[in-house]
Amino acid sequence: MEVSQPDSITATPAKLLVENVSKRFTSSRATVQALENVSLTVTAGEFVCLIGPSGCGKSTLLDIMAGLTMPDSGRVLADGKLVEGPGRQRLVMFQESALFPWLDAMGNVMFGLKLKPGLTNAQRREIAEHYLRLVGLEKFHHAHVHELSGGMKQRVALARSLAPDPQVLLMDEPFAALDALTRDQLYDDIQRIWQDSRKTIVFVTHNVREAVCLGDRVVLMMPGPGRISRIFDIPLPRPRDINSPELAGYASQIAAALKGVTGGAVSE
Ligand code: ADP
Ligand code: MG
Repeated sequence: MEVSQPDSITATPAKLLVENVSKRFTSSRATVQALENVSLTVTAGEFVCLIGPSGCGKSTLLDIMAGLTMPDSGRVLADGKLVEGPGRQRLVMFQESALFPWLDAMGNVMFGLKLKPGLTNAQRREIAEHYLRLVGLEKFHHAHVHELSGGMKQRVALARSLAPDPQVLLMDEPFAALDALTRDQLYDDIQRIWQDSRKTIVFVTHNVREAVCLGDRVVLMMPGPGRISRIFDIPLPRPRDINSPELAGYASQIAAALKGVTGGAVSE
């Protein structure tokens, strides 16, 4: 369904337009206003990080962008079209890689390609090989999920998300469960892949440095009700080194703002 956009005269149409989105969850114990009146524009090729304390609605907002959850009010437009459900152009990658344990690395990436119609088996294999190479797993095509480290599993999950060539990648704390060294390597890889492929990425994290390392913009959210508190531009050149002093300057600024939101200590 085409929807007219009041700002359609601007040069770059929004890849994702979140307009006044609200979402409430009611359980037997409580009612939570997970999001209230959230609006956000993400342009094509942009890398946007959502950060905020646990429970501020980051995952809910990402799920609504993906079309996995419907808002109570407001709407999301992707390329000017109303998001009414999940689509091949907007794929989600979660913290737990959710790989199929009975398939090897190649099988898992090829499975993702079932979303893309009209490919022969040989074509799917070729594409899967390309993306496994891109994430540095060319030697592990036939490794089974239980043989892979946490970092390698997330690499397979990343290859599986990239293989159908979605325009938008929605990532929910994809590296949160990994050790610091593995994460640092993945920051380099995700920046390289993003720059080469010009994807639009929305990336949820609760790690300030991670957000500053990856984001063109960092969107700070706050809870009760879940909403956007502030948006920070990060004009640092790329590729960025997570341990650089320039990056630390932005990180401490955002950490201070985050402290204001949580009223307590946060880990940088
Ligand atoms: P975050 O990802 O920032 O930690 P979430 O988006 O997961 O936050 O959750 C926001 C709020 O909504 C939390 O209070 C959470 O408990 C609540 N919530 C999220 N999903 C559900 C659900 N399916 N049912 C009930 N409450 C939910
Ligand atoms: Mg979450």
